[in-house]
Order: sequence, then C-alpha cells, then structure tokens
Amino acid sequence: MKLKKNNFIAKLLKKNQVRAEVYNAVNFGLYPSDFGRSVLSVVETLHHHGFQAYIVGGGVRDQILERHPKDFDVATNARPEEIKKCFNRALIIGKRFRLVHVYFNRREYIEVATFRADHQHAKHESDARTSKGGIISRDNVYGTLEEDAFRRDFTINALYYDPIRGKLLDFCAAVPDLKSKTLRLIGKPHMRFKEDPVRILRALRFANKLGFTIEAKTLRAIPQDAPMLKEISGGRLFDEYAKLMLYGQAHKNFHTLHEFKLLDYLFPLTVECLHESWFMSMIKLALENTDERFYADKTIHPGFLIAVFLYAPLLKNFKILTQSISRRQAFVQAMDETLKVQVKHTTMPNYFAQMIRDVWALQHPLELRRKQKVLEILKHPRFRAAYDFLLLRVEVGQANKALAKFWTDVQTLEEVALQKQFGVVEKNKKPIDQI
Ligand code: ATP
Ligand code: MG
Repeated sequence: MKLKKNNFIAKLLKKNQVRAEVYNAVNFGLYPSDFGRSVLSVVETLHHHGFQAYIVGGGVRDQILERHPKDFDVATNARPEEIKKCFNRALIIGKRFRLVHVYFNRREYIEVATFRADHQHAKHESDARTSKGGIISRDNVYGTLEEDAFRRDFTINALYYDPIRGKLLDFCAAVPDLKSKTLRLIGKPHMRFKEDPVRILRALRFANKLGFTIEAKTLRAIPQDAPMLKEISGGRLFDEYAKLMLYGQAHKNFHTLHEFKLLDYLFPLTVECLHESWFMSMIKLALENTDERFYADKTIHPGFLIAVFLYAPLLKNFKILTQSISRRQAFVQAMDETLKVQVKHTTMPNYFAQMIRDVWALQHPLELRRKQKVLEILKHPRFRAAYDFLLLRVEVGQANKALAKFWTDVQTLEEVALQKQFGVVEKNKKPIDQI
C-alpha cells in the first residue's frame, strides 16, 4: 500500500486501517544471533513485563543490507518511566525527545524509545511543542506501533524486527525501497523537513552511506527547506557533524554538503575560504585520512577535522589582527574569535575546543624546533595531533618539508638518544638549524 498524504495516513490510522506487511525475518537474512545479547535481552525483558518491543531503525536496515550496524535501537509501548523500572541500570534522557538508555556497562547501552504519535494527539502542551516555522521542539506524544512507524523519517528506517517471533513488520512500503535502493521520506517531504530540518542532513548522509538514490520529491524539497537548518540548535548540528564526518564517509559527505550548499549552516567560516586552493587541498587530505583511520579502526578525534576546517579562517583573522596588536596576542585573539563564531553554529564540548586550540598553538613551536623545547613538545598530550596537522600543512605547501622530516625522525629516537640530543637546557634559544 503506497500512502502519499499525511492527512490520508492520519485518517487511516484513526480508522485502524493501517496494516503492516508481515514478513518472515529469515527471508531478509535476519537472525536473532546477529543482533547481540544486549539488544535481545532488552526486547525479552520488555516482553516479559508485558510490553511490545521491536528492534527498529538503522540496526535492522543495515543488517538487511549486510552492513555493520552502528547501533541498535528498540521501540516499545512502555513509557519512559515504565522502561526504567524494567532494568537495573537505565537512565531517562532528552527533553526534545525523551528516551531511555539501558546500560550494560559504562560504555555500552541500548537506546529504547516509546512509540510516538502525531502531535495532534497531544494531551499536554508540554509534550508537543512547535516553533513558529513549524519545527518540532518537543516530540513526546506517545502512540501506537502503527503511529510510530509514520513518525519515523525514511521508509527504510521504519522496519520493525521482532526477534522473538522472527517477523519483520513493514508499514511504510520500506521493502520495495530497500530493493530499489531508494531513500524516501515518509509523508510529504516539505512537511517532514519543516518539522525537523535535520532530516535534510540525514537524507544526504544515508544516501551516501548506503549508495541509495534520494527519491525525486524528497530531493526537490532539500534546497527549498534547507534555510530552516538555521533554526536548529548548535548541539544537534554538532551531533550531525560527528555522524557525517566520523564514520567513514567524511570525504563524500563534505562534498555533498558543499554541492547542496548546506555547509553554510555548519561551517560558514570554512565556506568563505574554500576559494583558497591550498585550503581545499588540506581539507580533502584531512577528510581522506579521517576515512582511512575509520576503516583501519584507529581513533578519530572529533576536534581534528574542525581544526582543519577552521584553519584558513584562523589565519585570515590572525592577519587582520596583526595590523593592530603583537603577533602573539593576535594569534590568541584569532583563535578566540574563530571558535566563538563557530560555536554559534556547532556547539562543541569545551575539551574539543581546547584540543583545537592546542593543535593550532603547537604549530609555531613545531616550526621553531627550539632544541630545549623538543622534549617538552614531544610529551605534550596533543603532540601527535599537532604533528599530523603539520604534515597536512607541509603537504599543501603551507610549511617547510624539512619540518616534517625533523619531527618524523625525532620520534624514532630512543629515550637515551633523545636525552643526549635535546635533554640539555641551553641558555641560547636559537632555532635548531642555527645551532
Ligand atoms: P545510524 O545509527 O546508522 O546513524 P539510524 O537510522 O539508526 O542510523 P538513529 O539516529 O540512530 O539513526 O535513529 C534511530 C531511528 O530513529 C531512525 O532509524 C529513525 O527511524 C528514527 N529517527 C531518528 N531521527 C529521526 C528524525 N529526526 N525524525 C524521524 N525519525 C527519526
Ligand atoms: Mg541508530
């Protein structure tokens, strides 16, 4: 059944006429053993307490597409307080969208959300709140399984897997979309983007990640609705930045965002400097490295790419400020000003901002190579990131090649050799190549 109009869906839901296509999950390659003990135990526990519970979202989608799911989400008819009572370690989180994190250890948790309904069913004003432009700022109106399906963003994200009965429930004609590799918003695209413009970023991210084509109407709505991204909180945009850039698709996603003119909502200072060819090359290299690190299972610091994205804006500010104050003061002020503007768009935790400042601030000492500072620099907790940053600058002709060689070689020295060469505190503070 292809459902086109939202009010049409609402009417059907009211008349209880929405039926799911119910498939045998094994026909889609879904077996409980693929889902991990934690998520299965959440579903079983909720069932045990008499609630409905399904695995839903990316976990089901990616498993069907034979991709490694990022995480597993559970949807249930239990209310957040009821969910909490079913588990020893569970935390209710979120204001805009209340849900429960069920913890298995300090790092591992499963996200459990109560079925949502359309806002017109809100009993309390505090559960459903919408801004003037139509953006949903509170999405806590609870509903039935059927209603929940139509509140989700894309058809392929609205598949419900019941691991106990081995069934896959499809209310929104997701299966044909999965087969034809189509990314389609549920309902009317303008309305769904207006309710939550972050869905625009999600559309591009999923299309790139899965290699799906965005359905024509959904695609057409993107440029028209994109300006509403201005209304989204910096915190949510930072989360989206992380999902776009830190999971192996940074290079592709950056170019798609640029192509759709969406970078302006996340990194406007970066966009202003992209005409500088060295800067574009530096970003490209950083994005490629980030993707390589992801696939090699290496750690990726979320601040590193931002330090790269803001480097040309930092230098631009620095140049202007040096006209009126000392270079040292100008650099500190340029860092402050650049980050101050950026956090208006993507708020970030303080320790990320500090990491970015450290990476930038270490560039000058790395360039000076003062003999008596070498050991101190090598021990700096941000040395490795600052060194990687220096290598990028060298590659795009923004720093001397000899610097890269020096800091690469110095890291191969044993402690004794390091102490011998750099352990003596010299009064003479000349740069190393002049000694
Ligand atoms: P991934 O975790 O791989 O990024 P996902 O689809 O699991 O993809 P989540 O952000 O984990 O994405 O969200 C879980 C599910 O919640 C989605 O699949 C979708 O059904 C629903 N969802 C998430 N964000 C929204 C949104 N902004 N609007 C509507 N539904 C959403
Ligand atoms: Mg998920």
